[in-house]
Amino acid sequence: MYEIMFEMKTMVKKKPFKYKKILNGVKEIFFGKNESTKVKLSKKQYMNIIDAFKGRTVLIGASRTNPPKDSLGEWLMNNITKQAIASYIVPILIEEGHATPVMPLDSGKIKFTVVKIVECSNCREDTKMPLIPFASHFLCARCIRNW
Ligand SMILES: [Zn+2]
Repeated sequence: MYEIMFEMKTMVKKKPFKYKKILNGVKEIFFGKNESTKVKLSKKQYMNIIDAFKGRTVLIGASRTNPPKDSLGEWLMNNITKQAIASYIVPILIEEGHATPVMPLDSGKIKFTVVKIVECSNCREDTKMPLIPFASHFLCARCIRNW
């Protein structure tokens, strides 16, 4: 199966971690000591994160035990996994154009991109997926990848 492994760093503390992107949209995140902890994220789960926060500025909430109310970390714990994965999800969201850091970086906040679910302004397909603003168009994830 087609897979790519990415070497990443967390946004605030610059902790290294890896994530693997698999062609069917599954993401596997490897972190902690020797990157030995693995969390798997389906495409649907990932899209649910983007959908839950679109357009909003939120606290990352990287705490392992008690992320602030209404933070990304709290949402992830309630909806995806009890493992604290917010600080690993954030660089992935940023890399894929779904969020931008809020300056200064130690504000601990990100802003989620505004997404529209309509036809992609490049391929004109109704993708039934959130579109991403890019080069003054709204594009589907496939066109962004091939841009
Ligand atoms: Zn497209």
